[in-house]
Amino acid sequence: MSWRSPANEGWLRDLPGVRRDQPLARNTSFNIGGPADYFLESETPAELVAACDERGIPYRLLGAGTNLLISDAGVEGVVIRCVNRGWTVHGREVVAQAGLKMMRLARICAEHDLIGFEWAIGVPGTIGGAVCQNAGCWGGQLSDVLLDVAGLIPGEGPRRWQAGELGLGYRSSALRQGRWPGALVETATIRLAPGDGAAAKGDMARLTVERNRTQPIKSKNCGSVFKNPPGDSAGRLIEAAGLRGAREGAAQISEQHANFIINHGGATAADVLELIERARRRVRERFGLDLEPEVEAIGREAVVGRAS
Ligand SMILES: Cc1cc2nc3c(=O)[nH]c(=O)nc-3n(C[C@H](O)[C@H](O)[C@H](O)COP(=O)(O)OP(=O)(O)OC[C@H]3O[C@@H](n4cnc5c(N)ncnc54)[C@H](O)[C@@H]3O)c2cc1C
Repeated sequence: MSWRSPANEGWLRDLPGVRRDQPLARNTSFNIGGPADYFLESETPAELVAACDERGIPYRLLGAGTNLLISDAGVEGVVIRCVNRGWTVHGREVVAQAGLKMMRLARICAEHDLIGFEWAIGVPGTIGGAVCQNAGCWGGQLSDVLLDVAGLIPGEGPRRWQAGELGLGYRSSALRQGRWPGALVETATIRLAPGDGAAAKGDMARLTVERNRTQPIKSKNCGSVFKNPPGDSAGRLIEAAGLRGAREGAAQISEQHANFIINHGGATAADVLELIERARRRVRERFGLDLEPEVEAIGREAVVGRAS
């Protein structure tokens, strides 16, 4: 039975702040994506997730939209953008709500003379997205400091995961790989070392300068498109396959760093998918390696990551 019953549609329409047929492009760093049937920003997403689950309404959680390629045909059901951004510091431990940005948390930690999270200054997404992806850079990753995660499993109720239960690997987790489909991250607790916050701020400033020098940070993109294969770099392989600067519509493989795809304005998800498939095909032909997408394609007709 379709979720679009009159009772469900009526309930959705009456939700405070809900928007219908909301274009999602403005909620992603790629600036790409068709409409969500219904869209909400929520500081208490658990209530919404539980209610949607009970009513059989499909939903998709959104953080900062910095690791997503949203289909041109949009997303069915409700898109819930998590904007719960609170945090508390207890000695060496910091509890952060899912909607808090990693960059902001990195600065908060340094302000409290806690060190070991400086790398997170390079991750523009939220804590919720970072848990799903085990985000990391500059040799650090969330699993190095994560203690536990509190959230909700639809149909089961509240859940607290110890970090070791989340299957955190290289840009992967049991949440992203679907062991708990639709599970919500509400808070994450990290444990850091006491140290010199001023020095940590200096390190973060240096990392930011280095990132601006080497990556097309100011353009519209989704960060790394592919994971790096063991012992190699996806950018090097794509460049060696002759695809640096390759274009499809308004999408282009970056001249500066070939593991980035840039939206020059008006690019579609179909344009980006074409470049992704071209890069995978060429690298496979040249080097016999199958590049695995780091970006997550969602929505109607999303196909990235398909073995081809
Ligand atoms: C310029 C740029 C540089 C980047 N550099 C890096 C980098 O160095 N290292 C790195 O790891 N990543 C990097 N990224 C990618 C991205 O920032 C990370 O993957 C980040 O963790 C995604 O967080 P987000 O809030 O944007 O998640 P989104 O893109 O909004 O969502 C990603 C996934 O998480 C899920 N999700 C989001 N919030 C929740 C929640 N509360 N509960 C459950 N599921 C949720 C979504 O449903 C989706 O499946 C970069 C991106 C850009 C644009």
